[in-house]
Amino acid sequence: MNVIIVGAGIGGLVSALCLDAKGHKVKIYEQAEILSELGAGIQLSPNATKVLNYLGLFKDLEPYIFEPNSFQFLNFSTGKVISERKLGGAIKKDFNSPNYDIHRADLQRVLLNKIKVKNIDIHSNMKVTNVGNNKNSAFIEVDGKEIQADLVIGADGIHSKVSDSLFGKKEIIYTGNVAWRMLIPVEILPENLILPDTTVWLGPNKHFVTYHVNGGKNLNCVCLVEQDGWFNESWSEKGEIEELKKAYKGWNRTIETLLQHADPNTLYKWALHDRLPMKQWSKGRIIVLGDAAHPMLPFLAQGAAMAIEDGAVLANCIDNFDEVEEALKYFEKIRKPRTSYVQSAARRNAKVLHLSGLAAILRNLVMGYIGNKIFKKLYSYDALSIMNKNHNN
Ligand SMILES: Cc1cc2nc3c(=O)[nH]c(=O)nc-3n(C[C@H](O)[C@H](O)[C@H](O)COP(=O)(O)OP(=O)(O)OC[C@H]3O[C@@H](n4cnc5c(N)ncnc54)[C@H](O)[C@@H]3O)c2cc1C
Repeated sequence: MNVIIVGAGIGGLVSALCLDAKGHKVKIYEQAEILSELGAGIQLSPNATKVLNYLGLFKDLEPYIFEPNSFQFLNFSTGKVISERKLGGAIKKDFNSPNYDIHRADLQRVLLNKIKVKNIDIHSNMKVTNVGNNKNSAFIEVDGKEIQADLVIGADGIHSKVSDSLFGKKEIIYTGNVAWRMLIPVEILPENLILPDTTVWLGPNKHFVTYHVNGGKNLNCVCLVEQDGWFNESWSEKGEIEELKKAYKGWNRTIETLLQHADPNTLYKWALHDRLPMKQWSKGRIIVLGDAAHPMLPFLAQGAAMAIEDGAVLANCIDNFDEVEEALKYFEKIRKPRTSYVQSAARRNAKVLHLSGLAAILRNLVMGYIGNKIFKKLYSYDALSIMNKNHNN
């Protein structure tokens, strides 16, 4: 089939590679310059790395990834471990695939390099303004021209033009949380301040996440703070270090030290938005996936993983049905329960992670048990076989 993908984010690029692997001819249209250095770290859990391994990317990813030893929730003031899960070899053994931490730009670079050696066309600086269905084809509009395809995939993020064209404009809601991100070179930090773990420091109304990216060269810090009255969603909006220091006043010395070493030029902040779930993801020969279909808060670190899973499942659905429309409906049927679960669990975490007082003490008691149950459900999913499993039953 001739497939057009709108958007060269993680969802669009992985979908392109998965469809190419099944023998389809793919063209990607991206509104921006192709490689964006913007963004921060991405945690790739085993459900996502399984797909990247299937695409033959592990060797290319090697220079950029970091495999942490463990995942820890820590108390914001004492630094005491609230709960811990082993990663490294343990997670690989349990879920048959590793857990990698990586910078978004590095992942995008590896995917783009693979795209370049495949028979996939990629067009940058091309903003899609409309999409539609004809009798036996679908089309996109770019620069006032219509381009036809057998299938159009909208992988164009939370503000999806494809979704707006198909179903009308959806309301985007500010969640009351602002995320700050920064990268700190590990070599400038005091020795042993940060161990090779993913850490999530929990305090009232905010938390602080750290893990290594760029092959271990930089420490990625994401600070999630409840805040009213600031709604800017841009990935390139700079933040003020003094404002962040004020927000984390009284936190553990480790956090204080990290903020002292932050380079204000690499400090960004963006307001976290959410959208009500969509009743439908497809119409005719057009479908949305990734953030365009199910945007989610980063409180479970699964946004990119869900987009990656989508790409693999969609390619398998297309492969297993004669009619495109049927394949798209089937994709919706098997993906909606999974992504809705992750969306609502992430929304719940936005509250749970920021509790204080007695509620926080009670949370800490059950954190390990409940966390393990959720992560088992997330990580054991196999996007490569789920289609056949469901279809054959
Ligand atoms: C620059 C950038 C930085 C990010 N940084 C972070 C981060 O630090 N932390 C985090 O948790 N998440 C970040 N994200 C979001 C995260 O990457 C996504 O939530 C996740 O990977 C799902 O990806 P997606 O491909 O569905 O959507 P996205 O990653 O949002 O990709 C959508 C793509 O579609 C393109 N596009 C949009 N509209 C059109 C159009 N009309 N025509 C053509 N192309 C279009 C966009 O330019 C973009 O490249 C970032 C996204 C972007 C685009």
